[in-house]
Amino acid sequence: MKTVNSVRDVRGWRRASAGRLGLVPTMGYLHAGHLSLVEAARRDNDRVAASLFVNPTQFGPTEDLSRYPRDLARDTRLLEEAGCDLLFAPPPEEMYPPGFETAIDVGSVAATLEGARRPGHFRGVATVVMKLFGIFQPDRAYFGQKDAQQLAVTRRMVRDLDLPVEIRACPTVREADGLAMSSRNVYLTPEERRAAPALHRALEAARERWAAGERDAEALRKTMQSVLAGETRLRVDYVSVADPETCRELDAVDGPALLSLAAFLGRTRLIDNVVVGA
Ligand code: AMP
Repeated sequence: MKTVNSVRDVRGWRRASAGRLGLVPTMGYLHAGHLSLVEAARRDNDRVAASLFVNPTQFGPTEDLSRYPRDLARDTRLLEEAGCDLLFAPPPEEMYPPGFETAIDVGSVAATLEGARRPGHFRGVATVVMKLFGIFQPDRAYFGQKDAQQLAVTRRMVRDLDLPVEIRACPTVREADGLAMSSRNVYLTPEERRAAPALHRALEAARERWAAGERDAEALRKTMQSVLAGETRLRVDYVSVADPETCRELDAVDGPALLSLAAFLGRTRLIDNVVVGA
């Protein structure tokens, strides 16, 4: 695997390497969830590139940008073992040189859920993803279902701007107790870590009610709330039953639905989701 830090070097590599390219954008501190995206990209493409960039523009002023976990040496080894061909790990000034001003505003799909709690987050995400698409010109790009709204935002952008890239979604990889893998899980204290699987339990309880025939979205939200209420360490940010494409809340579930939630454990904010009826 080759590691490069500049756009110019990515372009040089791209020109020299034939075949279909799959891109896996990440913020690093890799876990099995990230590596599942690399594996999927390897199956579908001739070449696989990963980017590792803790994108400052998608963090709010009070969020965890400065303490976001980093371990480039370990990430490099994991990507190499996973069969990645190129790692692009640019410094911030390579992505945002002085005078940088353009931003991508994807509209209403970015306004709800995570977008409502994290103003500017998806503007930062969409802008950096657009840049990565411009830098790599990949045939396919791989995203985790774990960040369902990021996926919806990216798909909207690709459709609206006619970008010649195919977006592939990969299932959420979980720990044995159901907790969705996340780089942020390292922030959890042992007690918080023990409480964290309640997020997945809440989603599973709602999924079971849906499977048993419940189609009232509010009843499914209440099911999630009541499971979360059983874990006193959790502070619920939101529970939602929304359209997976528009990310707007539903009243009745008569098609696919994104069941999602966000909760704080101490200072750490965790998100998770499942899709039903897809
Ligand atoms: P991040 O480094 O958190 O920005 O994540 C990079 C990519 O990995 C995104 O497309 C995420 O949705 C995806 N991802 C993160 N966690 C998981 C997981 N547990 N399972 C599958 N994909 C994941």
